[in-house]
Amino acid sequence: MSATASCSLSRPEARAHDSSVVPTPAQLAQRFPLDHAVAERIHVARREAIELVQGRDDRLLCVVGPCSIHDPESALEYAARLAAVTERYASELLIVMRVYLEKPRSSVGWKGLISDPHLDGRCDIGHGLSVARELMSDVARLGLPMATELLDANLAVYFSDLLTWAAIGARTSESQPHRELASSLPFPVGFKNGTDGRIEGALGGMRSAAQAHRRLAPDAHGWLRPLQSSGNPHCHLTLRGGASGPNYAAEHVTAASQSALGRGLPSRVLVDCSHGNSGKRHEDQLGVCAAVAEQVAAGGQHVLGVMIESHLVAGQQALSAGPAGLRYGQSITDACVDFSSTEGMLEQLARALGRGRGVRGRGAKDRDRIPGLDAPRAC
Ligand code: PEP
Ligand code: MN
Repeated sequence: MSATASCSLSRPEARAHDSSVVPTPAQLAQRFPLDHAVAERIHVARREAIELVQGRDDRLLCVVGPCSIHDPESALEYAARLAAVTERYASELLIVMRVYLEKPRSSVGWKGLISDPHLDGRCDIGHGLSVARELMSDVARLGLPMATELLDANLAVYFSDLLTWAAIGARTSESQPHRELASSLPFPVGFKNGTDGRIEGALGGMRSAAQAHRRLAPDAHGWLRPLQSSGNPHCHLTLRGGASGPNYAAEHVTAASQSALGRGLPSRVLVDCSHGNSGKRHEDQLGVCAAVAEQVAAGGQHVLGVMIESHLVAGQQALSAGPAGLRYGQSITDACVDFSSTEGMLEQLARALGRGRGVRGRGAKDRDRIPGLDAPRAC
């Protein structure tokens, strides 16, 4: 065997690496730091989100924002507008912005701002990480709690300090690394039902994430080290519909909630108005939201809240022609409702909660109650 052939660098999988290095989590945290006041606001938002998941606060968790972010400028404009709405409904809604930077694909397609920040297939991931951390720090400074889907378990260390809530997606709810990652996070994590519509994988994910795990994870300097998690008891189901049809109706929500309760898991359920529940037709998100609002107005407490895919401009545009001609403020992945529709949906939910509180005050049916959730929270 020649010296070259025996060299590990000659193996095809090693040759696939290029020689660049990406910034470490510590380097990016130093460039885009969290000041004390912002960190404190995130801590408070996490505590509030946990109170909602655990049924000690009856407000609705609203995870709202673009399917994916491809342009930090329009994302920041969106964030500023959403921050204003957040204050308006603070007694009824805990609004968290979707800042989704990694996209799982059913087959192929653009994989998100971290993977391909220039939108041209060059996949400058080091730059993508930097853009992601900068954007999330800017949104955090607006006082807006943030949510993302965690896709590459190795990347969470770059921005988990900025998050209030995270999703484990429909394609990864059954994945061991994602479950173990969720078990180490100090905030609620929503596990989505599978793309086939079944909730068992997500329930298994919640059970697994509630337990302690030992796994290898990168530290702030990028070194892989054994990490011991303590288990995350604040995971919940997210119903997103699927191949078997939508699953936002009261009977789906009640059955899913009871399945979680039967396993000793948090039983309030987040309803995704988009994806399999809207058939990815953005305008159909309004009907899903109205149906959920009806459940809330009837005094039922199984609904934890909603997810809405929303951007400045309605609809979706193709990236296939390249980044140059893109319309400002419109999604390049799933179609979104526009900002004024989003405001209408949030108002509808806030009003529905007010009515639901009235119904519960007059005595709601026992089967719709969640222990500890009967008294409206004084805000
Ligand atoms: C999303 O939230 O944009 C998403 C990809 O969701 P799901 O995992 O439900 O497909
Ligand atoms: Mn989407």
